[in-house]
Amino acid sequence: MQLFSIFGDPVSHSRSPLMHNAVFKNLNYKACYVRTHLQDGSKLKETFLSLGLSGANVTVPHKEAAFNACDEVRGFAKKVGVVNTIVNENGKLIGYNTDADGFMYAIEEFQTIKNILIIGAGGTAKALASRFLEERVEVAILNRSESRLHYFKELGCRSSSWSDFKVKKYDLVINTTSAGLKDENLPAPQEMIDSILDNAHYAADAIYGKLTPFLQMAKDKNIIYKDGSDMLLGQGVLANELFVKFQLNKNDIKREMQKSFKL
Ligand code: NDP
Repeated sequence: MQLFSIFGDPVSHSRSPLMHNAVFKNLNYKACYVRTHLQDGSKLKETFLSLGLSGANVTVPHKEAAFNACDEVRGFAKKVGVVNTIVNENGKLIGYNTDADGFMYAIEEFQTIKNILIIGAGGTAKALASRFLEERVEVAILNRSESRLHYFKELGCRSSSWSDFKVKKYDLVINTTSAGLKDENLPAPQEMIDSILDNAHYAADAIYGKLTPFLQMAKDKNIIYKDGSDMLLGQGVLANELFVKFQLNKNDIKREMQKSFKL
């Protein structure tokens, strides 16, 4: 029996155990997926190894720590320095990022996205910004604090903190902060979100399973919006394929994960 886990702080909200266990159980793959509440990201590797894990997902706020914890990082994760999926290969931790492609899958129904605003500058924002730039989409960043903006300026994103932000028109605005996850906070001051949404075509939140104050404002303004559920599904399918070393059919994984959303 293989063991997998999600690491995060908080982690109790995570639907990943439900999704991956549904796949393992219904597709007869001998594995189990649990939650691990981890406060200190620097302890990720030793905790992973002491639990004898075959693989893991990493959520807020440890995705950048996960990058440093890995012995080798592959694909898109290497480019962005952010890891959300780890696979144990003969005692070595191999890191991947499935968030960005998961998000692209989630917004397939949104048409003609040419310029976006990402609110937040953490691990998820890094992955999404780089992925959208690959698609030649213009990316602006708005973050509460100044300190994380350097990375995005280097990437070529117009990057602002709350103190110097000037609103423009956006095809899509995405909340990648954890504001609204365990509280009822907006990701920026209310007047700022108000003017951003007045200039936005679509809105999306990485947070799933609840209508965040940010999405509530989008809804009140009749903007087409979506929460992070499809992103969760997209990143989960890609992570599960890595966990089972591509031994299960992708459509079967997706179907079982989708079913678990109704549990
Ligand atoms: P990080 O910890 O790396 O980054 C958090 C960001 O949120 C920082 O930019 C921080 O700003 C900002 N922030 C935190 N609290 C507030 C607040 N009260 N007001 C304004 N800004 C705030 O987190 P991640 O990028 O890993 O995750 C972000 C969110 O995305 C989480 O809620 C996570 O659950 C969700 N997520 C969902 C996924 C899905 O599949 N649906 C996948 C990935 C993430 P500052 O720099 O000022 O501290």
